[in-house]
Amino acid sequence: MIVDTHMHTEFSFDSSEKIERMLEKAKELHMGITTTEHKDLNYEEVGGFPIDFDVDHYFKTYEKYRSDTYFMGIELGLDRNYTKELEHLTSQYPFDMVIGSLHTMKGFNLSSRKYLAKMEEEVFYKEYLHYAKEMVEEHPFIDALAHFDYPTRYSPYREMRYEAYQEDFDGLFQAMVKHQVTLELNLKRPLQGELYHAFKSVYGGYKSQGGQFVTLASDAHVAEDIGRNFHEAKSLLDELGLEICYYSNRERICQGSSLV
Ligand SMILES: [Zn+2]
Ligand SMILES: [Zn+2]
Repeated sequence: MIVDTHMHTEFSFDSSEKIERMLEKAKELHMGITTTEHKDLNYEEVGGFPIDFDVDHYFKTYEKYRSDTYFMGIELGLDRNYTKELEHLTSQYPFDMVIGSLHTMKGFNLSSRKYLAKMEEEVFYKEYLHYAKEMVEEHPFIDALAHFDYPTRYSPYREMRYEAYQEDFDGLFQAMVKHQVTLELNLKRPLQGELYHAFKSVYGGYKSQGGQFVTLASDAHVAEDIGRNFHEAKSLLDELGLEICYYSNRERICQGSSLV
């Protein structure tokens, strides 16, 4: 079974989607899904607004839908000032999967076009990849690292290629392998053109450092986006010999690298 391991419903500030519509769409596609609602405890400090939700209420409301095709997760904004709170939260609730995200870096909002436009591409990417490695080392309790390409979406930069930042990527990937953190393949953007070639080089680099597992993520905020670009992603991972996985009860479940 293929599981779309990253999506948002009305518990997230940026989605008003109903869980029932998500489940219906998943059934139609013969896929499993994991909801991963946003919690970014530091977001107000970077000039944003509070991004939070009531986890008790989340479990009370969605628990009844849990099955072998519906999993309950969370997307945490990583920040070393909140490490203890995040770790505590993940141990307090019976999540299936915990995603770690870098929406901010050292007090900056990584979706700020203004901030990114001021930085020099190569300097930024090197610092960002080093920071990502540190965040994995400081939050080894996460299951997967989300959308490494997140800042690129809001910047004037080229896509990150493995060859251009090999040393920095290797540091990150080695930390992920060591702490058993899975690399997400975020499919919010269509897997074509420059992005396809960039992702191919990066996921190939991940494999060269001992990485074996990948989770597929539509990052859907509406039911219609579930499973978007998965066909292209499966072909790419098959070509690279990486395994597609998902999480149930915080355990990684993989289905081999063959096309489904
Ligand atoms: Zn995110
Ligand atoms: Zn997300």
